Amino acid sequence: MPRYAYVNGRYVPFAGAAVHVEDRGLQLADGIYEVVSVSDGMPLDRDAHLDRLDRSLGELDITPPMSRSALEVVIGEIIRRERVRYGMVYIQVTRGVARRDHAFPVPERRPGLIVMARAIRPERQAAKAARGITVISVPETRWSRVDIKTTALTGNVLARQAAIEAGADEAWFVDGRGVVTEGASSNAWIVSRGGALITHPTDGRILGGITREIAIQLAESEGLRVEDQPFTIAEAQSASEAFITSAGNGIMPVVDIDHSTIGDGTPGPLVTMLRKRFDGRS
Ligand code: PMP
Repeated sequence: MPRYAYVNGRYVPFAGAAVHVEDRGLQLADGIYEVVSVSDGMPLDRDAHLDRLDRSLGELDITPPMSRSALEVVIGEIIRRERVRYGMVYIQVTRGVARRDHAFPVPERRPGLIVMARAIRPERQAAKAARGITVISVPETRWSRVDIKTTALTGNVLARQAAIEAGADEAWFVDGRGVVTEGASSNAWIVSRGGALITHPTDGRILGGITREIAIQLAESEGLRVEDQPFTIAEAQSASEAFITSAGNGIMPVVDIDHSTIGDGTPGPLVTMLRKRFDGRS
């Protein structure tokens, strides 16, 4: 368990860390968040995550709770206090505390800010990557602004739970077009038989993943072709490789989709190479 959390201006003991019952994040999911990976004690791709945090706040018209440089200090301090070498930082900003009403409070409230850090065991992630993960498909049930990283994650929560109950690791959303949009908490990728990397375009139907962007850059620097094109579950099942990307998982191989084995059922060569390149950056 973490020892501290940063909550609305103070570092408080984690066990007693709490927000007000009328925080709009709690009652209305009226807030946004970021998850930043920590590698060797440093927040990985911090600037890209903070850029996306600013964009999410702008889309919801929530005023940033503090300056970018102050938030960078809090992130660094919580990592230091928690002594995290490998792990995650969670940042959440809400529209603050106000009497419950859907409309924005007037006058504007002080935004709620939570920052936490948690250690992970890198060897567990490595073992998972060596095996590869399994995926099931679920219907796309989410709202139409999934490009904003809001804390309103009901569709994602139910999708992940469906995966767990099916004995799988992740769920891929399939929309009304029959297209895989993204995972419950990751972006979805396949490698075509021709060796092209295919992932859904950032057209508003997915969250623009930071890891997705880095994977595109890494793949292109390796001379691989990347196509941001929709693909179906049938195409994924006959792909030569599949994987997911997220700050939590990095680049993680997928070896089974809806009980259909991908390739020979072990992580493919391209995803294995990309994961190595991704992990070798820090
Ligand atoms: N899509 C969804 C729905 C997610 O929750 C995440 C994880 N934040 C991602 C994609 C991947 O984004 P990132 O690479 O920035 O972690």
